[in-house]
Amino acid sequence: MVDVFIRGDTVVTPQGVGAYDIAIADGKIAGIAASGSFPTPPNARVIDATGKIVIPGGIDPHVHCKWFMPNPDGTAGLTEPPDVVSKAAVHGGTTTMIDFTRANQGATVREAIEKREADWKGHCACDYAQHLMVEGALPVDLPGQVGEAIEAGFPTVKIFTTDITPSRKGRMVDFGDIWEVFQVLAANGGLGVIHSEDNDIVMHMYGKLIREGRTGFENMAEVHNTLSEDISFRRVIRLAEKVKGTALYMMHTSAASGVSAIREARARGVSIYGESLHQYMLYTSEDYKRTNGQIYHTYPSLKTKEDQAALWEGTLDGSIHSVATDELCCNLATKTQGNRIDDTTGGNAACEPRVALMYTEMVGRRGYSLTRFADLVSSNAAKIMGLYPRKGAIAPGSDADIAVLDPALRRVIRKEDLHETDYSPWEGHQVDAWPSMTLLRGKVVVENGRFHGKPADGQWLHRRIADEILTGTAL
Ligand SMILES: [Zn+2]
Repeated sequence: MVDVFIRGDTVVTPQGVGAYDIAIADGKIAGIAASGSFPTPPNARVIDATGKIVIPGGIDPHVHCKWFMPNPDGTAGLTEPPDVVSKAAVHGGTTTMIDFTRANQGATVREAIEKREADWKGHCACDYAQHLMVEGALPVDLPGQVGEAIEAGFPTVKIFTTDITPSRKGRMVDFGDIWEVFQVLAANGGLGVIHSEDNDIVMHMYGKLIREGRTGFENMAEVHNTLSEDISFRRVIRLAEKVKGTALYMMHTSAASGVSAIREARARGVSIYGESLHQYMLYTSEDYKRTNGQIYHTYPSLKTKEDQAALWEGTLDGSIHSVATDELCCNLATKTQGNRIDDTTGGNAACEPRVALMYTEMVGRRGYSLTRFADLVSSNAAKIMGLYPRKGAIAPGSDADIAVLDPALRRVIRKEDLHETDYSPWEGHQVDAWPSMTLLRGKVVVENGRFHGKPADGQWLHRRIADEILTGTAL
């Protein structure tokens, strides 16, 4: 029985954008037809979305909730839990988040997954999944366990090629172990999701800038630099090419050199996909000089205007497929407590405005089609991460995860209006629309700024990546 019925005149579907009616039953999209061709179903809630833009719910494939966060004094705290971040996400039209499970922190991978799930089950107002994260020197039996986890619905494995800062030893995985993991990914239908920086260059630059007394975080782009991204991306890609069947997703691509490496690899037929972050798309290292400039930072680093232009170019030429946040939600005092190149807090709090910001920047300022915009904030991530077509599509059989963007709700972003924390890196940005409604599996979880969801609404998503993503250069 159809329980929700949406009438729209601008609905983004895999077949194109048009005036469609959407029938929803039991949380799924039961049917889509040209406006007026369905009879209005009896007893259904009818939602008039005419004059608005109806898109698949946003997917943020890179967030860190309830996540270990080092403090400058050597102690560590935790970022805000999924309860907080997911509520903000649905307010902004995002209905799925993908976080991380640290796979080798003292237990088996299976135990790590169960422990992490306990932090999420009943605590997330949107649907969610977890990348596995492998860190440091990998136990010899870990690759086999990763293979089992891929089978169990965790097909993406995060790997760091750097410790990031001198004090964060234990994250980098050496190339021998990466080689082993790539073989497991290739054999089991997994995808490597990579934090790719050249550790030698990064650590060399830390040493150099510390010797020169230039330790302020405004120098971050000299440490986490474009050469490092160039060399590291190419080294990882080369290794993947030598392990037939390895597919890659390059997280938080920040530089023109990274975009070029992805583009060239795709031209050679490598199955590789690029992610950038909204702050890399819209801020540069000049923004570090602003008051509380740390709020614009996440690792690797902001770069130049030319790098920024290359990231935008990448969204057009098929090198950048997804715009994520690298959400690490904390308050302003925590975000700004470090002010050196080696202790500044990474991540940011901006899961909520991502969809509206990208609509504004892509459709409003750059003339992208609604389809390309929806691909970059939702559909591509669903395809790459193994959620499509359940997620990321307004299509029959898909989960009824829908964001209704209302141009009449255009606004200036103010932290007081958001649901994350006491600051926003997007304070003062004008956006051309805002979601008037968000549906999660057919349930209206936000309507006109009011939250109707529950922390128990979210479901864990079993993922399996399609062959065409793993073996070709789809998208
Ligand atoms: Zn991250």
